[in-house]
Amino acid sequence: MKITNVRTHVLQAALSEPLASARGWYDTRTAMLVEIETDQGVVGWGECYGPAGITAAVVESVAPWLIGGDPLRTEYLWQMIYARLRDHGQKGVVIEGLSGIDIALWDIKGKHFGVPVHQLLGGALRTHIVAYATGLQRRQAEDPTRYLAEEAAGYVAEGFSAVKLKVGFGVEEDVVATRVVREAIGPTVSLMVDANHTFDSVAAIRLGRMIEKYDISWFEEPVPPEDLAGYCAVKAAISIPIAGGECEFTRFGFRNLFVSRALDIAQPDICAAGGLSECKKIADMAEVFGVRYTPHVWGTGIAIAASLHLLAVLPPHTRSSPVPVAPLLEFDRTENPLRQAIVTEPIEHTRGIVPVPKGPGLGIEIDRKALARFSRR
Ligand code: CA
Repeated sequence: MKITNVRTHVLQAALSEPLASARGWYDTRTAMLVEIETDQGVVGWGECYGPAGITAAVVESVAPWLIGGDPLRTEYLWQMIYARLRDHGQKGVVIEGLSGIDIALWDIKGKHFGVPVHQLLGGALRTHIVAYATGLQRRQAEDPTRYLAEEAAGYVAEGFSAVKLKVGFGVEEDVVATRVVREAIGPTVSLMVDANHTFDSVAAIRLGRMIEKYDISWFEEPVPPEDLAGYCAVKAAISIPIAGGECEFTRFGFRNLFVSRALDIAQPDICAAGGLSECKKIADMAEVFGVRYTPHVWGTGIAIAASLHLLAVLPPHTRSSPVPVAPLLEFDRTENPLRQAIVTEPIEHTRGIVPVPKGPGLGIEIDRKALARFSRR
C-alpha cells in the first residue's frame, strides 16, 4: 500500500454568542482535518489542534515527503518528519501538523487490518470512558454566578459526574464562581478548575488556597507552560492536584515536566503533542513517573475518537478494587457546530459515559457534505 495524496480541510463555523476563557473571547470555531489517500482506496482521517491556517501549511509542506510511502510504517514516518523538521519545530505547530498526519495513518492502519485503533495500541482495558463536562465559560452581558450555576446544574442533570469551570478572571471573582458552581452541583460531583495559564504562581497559590475547601479535583494550567518552577511552587503550596500539558509537545517536552515533578495530571492533546504514536509513549512515561494521563480534547469527532482509542488502553490511575479510578475523557460541551457535524454518527454520551468506537481504524465516517458546508477556503 502506498500513500497517493494528502489533503487538508480548514473548517470554520460562527458561534451564536461569543464565549471566553482566561485566554480571551472567541466567536468562531475552526478545525484542521487531514485526509490521507492510498492506492488501495483506504482513506485515513486525522485532526490538528492549533491555528488551522498554520497547521494546514505545515501538513501541505510535509505532504510531498509522504507520497509513495507505506502508510503502515507509522513509526518510521513519524521519525522521518520529526528528524527533517527537528531544527525548526520541536514544539508547536510543526508537531500539531505531524499529529494530524499520524492520526490519519493510524486510521488507515486500522482500516487495513480491519480492527479498531485501540486494538493496534495494545487492546482495550475498557469499552466505555467516563467523561467530564468542559464548559462553564464566560458569556457577555449576564451575571456569571447565575448562568454558571444553571449550566453546571444542567450537566449534573444530564448525568455527568465531573465538570470543569474556567477560572482566571480575577482571584476574588474566581472564588465566587467556584463556590456557586460547587453549590449548584452538590458535594458528590467532581469539580475541576482551569485557569488557561493566566496567573503567575503568586496569584495561582492565592486562588488555590481560597478554593481548596470546595474539594477541587484538579487545578489546570495555573501558570504559563514555560514556567516549570512556577508549576512546582503551586504544586508544593496547595493540596489541589495540579494538571497541565495541553501546550506541551512530544515525549521530550513531557520528559522535562515529569522529571521536574511539575504535574500530578498530564494532559497531552493527541492532536497536538505528536499524535497517537507519540501520546502512547508519553502515556507510558507518565505511568513510570506516577503521573496521571487525562488527555486534553478540544476538537471535532476525529479528535474525540482518537482520544477515546488511547483512553481505552491507558492504565487505571489506581488499581485497587472494587472500582479502579480510570482516566477521564474531556468532553467539550461548549458550542461547536463542527464537532459532530463532520462525522456521520455523532459521538455522544449517555449519563456522562462515552463508548469507545468499535469500527476499523478510528471507527468513524466523515460527512463530506459537512466539510463542504464549513470549508473556509
Ligand atoms: Ca485547558
